[in-house]
Amino acid sequence: MTKPIILTIDDEPQVLNAVERDLRQHYRGDYRIIKAGSGAEALETIQRLKQRNVPVALLLADQRMPSMSGTEFLAEARQFYPEARKVLLTAYADTQAAITSINTIGLDHYLMKPWNPPEQNLYPVLDDLLSDWLATVPIPYDGIRVAGTLWSASCHNVKDFLARSQIPHQWLDIEKDEEARALVEAVNKDQHRLPVIFFPDGSTLINPDTKILAEKVGLRTQATQPFYELIIIGAGPAGLAAAVYGASEGLHTILIDKETTGGQAGTSSRIENYLGFPNGLSGADLARRATAQAARLGAEILTAQEVTRVRVEDPFRFVTLSDGTELSCKALLIATGVSVRELKVPGIEAITGAGVYYGAALTEAAHYQGEHFYVVGGANSAGQGAMFFSRYAGKVTMLVRASSLKKGMSQYLVDQIEETPNIEVMTRTEVIEVHGQDRLEAITIKNNDTGESCTKPTPAMFIFVGAVPHTDLVADVVERNHSGFIITGPDLIRRGRRPKNWRLKRDPYLLETSVPGIFAAGDVRHNVVRRVASAVGQGSMAVSFVHQYLETV
Ligand SMILES: Cc1cc2nc3c(=O)[nH]c(=O)nc-3n(C[C@H](O)[C@H](O)[C@H](O)COP(=O)(O)OP(=O)(O)OC[C@H]3O[C@@H](n4cnc5c(N)ncnc54)[C@H](O)[C@@H]3O)c2cc1C
Repeated sequence: MTKPIILTIDDEPQVLNAVERDLRQHYRGDYRIIKAGSGAEALETIQRLKQRNVPVALLLADQRMPSMSGTEFLAEARQFYPEARKVLLTAYADTQAAITSINTIGLDHYLMKPWNPPEQNLYPVLDDLLSDWLATVPIPYDGIRVAGTLWSASCHNVKDFLARSQIPHQWLDIEKDEEARALVEAVNKDQHRLPVIFFPDGSTLINPDTKILAEKVGLRTQATQPFYELIIIGAGPAGLAAAVYGASEGLHTILIDKETTGGQAGTSSRIENYLGFPNGLSGADLARRATAQAARLGAEILTAQEVTRVRVEDPFRFVTLSDGTELSCKALLIATGVSVRELKVPGIEAITGAGVYYGAALTEAAHYQGEHFYVVGGANSAGQGAMFFSRYAGKVTMLVRASSLKKGMSQYLVDQIEETPNIEVMTRTEVIEVHGQDRLEAITIKNNDTGESCTKPTPAMFIFVGAVPHTDLVADVVERNHSGFIITGPDLIRRGRRPKNWRLKRDPYLLETSVPGIFAAGDVRHNVVRRVASAVGQGSMAVSFVHQYLETV
């Protein structure tokens, strides 16, 4: 661990060097001694140390400095390190100022100059203060820290990305933590942009774009080659399974995701129906295991890279990434899944991410401890969300349009919900308006049987209302149904005829699209069972069709 700091400040070089020498002699084994020639220089050092979360144990400042006195410096430094012990070096005439500082800035001690011999006049005092500091100081967190407000959508996105990428980090709420607020203001220089992300190496990022953040935390965002045998777009369960099978069966494989690995499954609090995990497992755990497995078997994995376009120039298939890079391959698998449908009601857009969340938003739930919040939707994902949130909430109300939960939810979840005392289910009910300026304050709900509506105060609403496929990237390339889902295999044969422009003498394989060599797997397909196991099964099957296709090109 980094040694805690003792910082000494004096504008007179001889005095500064003498203090530093004496401090080093006695404390250098356990502490790092730093010196500064002015209050301003010392404050800059303090801010730098705080950005890296290096612990500061003791500040030893001369009272008589021309531009900033010792007490003025200590008052400023206290904002960043309230726990650090504060000592003033004084001349006889400064005694009164020092005594006043005990009350005003919580000065711990003042030392008269000269302090010789240090064994008698310096070390005993500082030993005492340092042992006191050691006994009370919290262990500093030496990982990534994200500072912002609970109500900011950009803060939510950053936390969500880090959590889903399994990057450990600490959340600092600047509305509750004064040290964090001072640090953010020092870095932000009046720009008021959030979140500010502090890295252990002392660097910071302010509300970065996902790709920059991904690169900074060590995730790969650039392909190592221009050409692959198999490119997989989308790293949800289908894409991850295809990457595992493709790489393990010797295909030169790359897996690309616009966010991070795990897909929708990665946001699930508990997947209980996936084969082989009798106690269930969290989506994050499944994503972590599958990502490690795919990487170990040799698949290259890019995150924070959206595929914006797909084009065909036989025998190759090309994908364009959001940064303009083009990669080519022999076989392409689209596993881009779906995302939750947006709820279109007045007032919702401005506060999405600030009390209104789509999907599980698991990282947010803990912030609403003891509150009454709402889950919109009646399918399995809504049920799982409600079960998870019920651990934190005082009460969870599910708003369901259907007349019964049984219409859209697995029976095991219906049973769990019925047995959970703090979950209430309101059927035939929908949200018609959302209220709040910069955060959610209330929602208006309507009963569709009686037509009655009422407004309920709440700080949080989690929405799970259906799916939209991510298929714009292949809009003009492969056949899709009226809702945008990709049509594959036998569904492409109509009245015994193969798809338009299909020139091969065989029918499309089961998971093949209307373009030979472009396959689709998982939720993005038309007429499919939207489940983790189903996506995993399709991802692995797709690879066997890829092999068959590659034998012919
Ligand atoms: C909250 C929740 C809970 C669930 N719980 C369960 C459960 O308990 N059991 C169960 O069986 N199923 C569950 N499901 C459903 C299950 O998660 C999905 O069926 C499954 O994740 C589908 O996998 P997929 O790989 O097809 O797509 P997705 O999981 O949707 O993954 C698609 C991936 O593609 C990426 N992508 C999209 N467009 C692009 C692009 N242009 N470029 C690059 N990348 C792109 C996305 O970022 C995403 O990571 C749940 C779903 C949700 C939302």
